[in-house]
Amino acid sequence: MTDCLFCKIVRGEIPSKKAYEDDEVLVFHDIHPIAPVHLLLIPKAHVASLGECTAEHQSLLGKMLLMAPKLALEHGLDNGFRTMINTGPGGGQEVFHLHLHVFGGGDRIPKL
Ligand code: 5GP
Ligand code: ZN
Repeated sequence: MTDCLFCKIVRGEIPSKKAYEDDEVLVFHDIHPIAPVHLLLIPKAHVASLGECTAEHQSLLGKMLLMAPKLALEHGLDNGFRTMINTGPGGGQEVFHLHLHVFGGGDRIPKL
């Protein structure tokens, strides 16, 4: 997916404030944070959304979820955090490259 925004971030064609990187995943700060800490965890390989994931993504998805508490703590979120995956236009997804939002901090997170 050459024209995908997050693929461009993975390739370094668009700058990002990176928080973590390995062979499979990239973590960077959201450009429009909705909380004092707002990270995006993405797979480096393009997959459009959670709706396109298959059994082959099982370990990757597990890895991403298990990274969330570690990253949250590393960024000072010692009182908890929220995770969110928007899927499809009906789920509010705007960038069609799978991403896990991890955010928190500040006084109070809005009640869902
Ligand atoms: P979605 O609404 O698809 O779940 O979330 C997309 C997120 O990507 C939004 O929170 C938005 O602020 C973030 N975003 C969009 N473009 C960029 C960008 O160029 N750089 C970074 N770091 N975040 C972006
Ligand atoms: Zn992509």
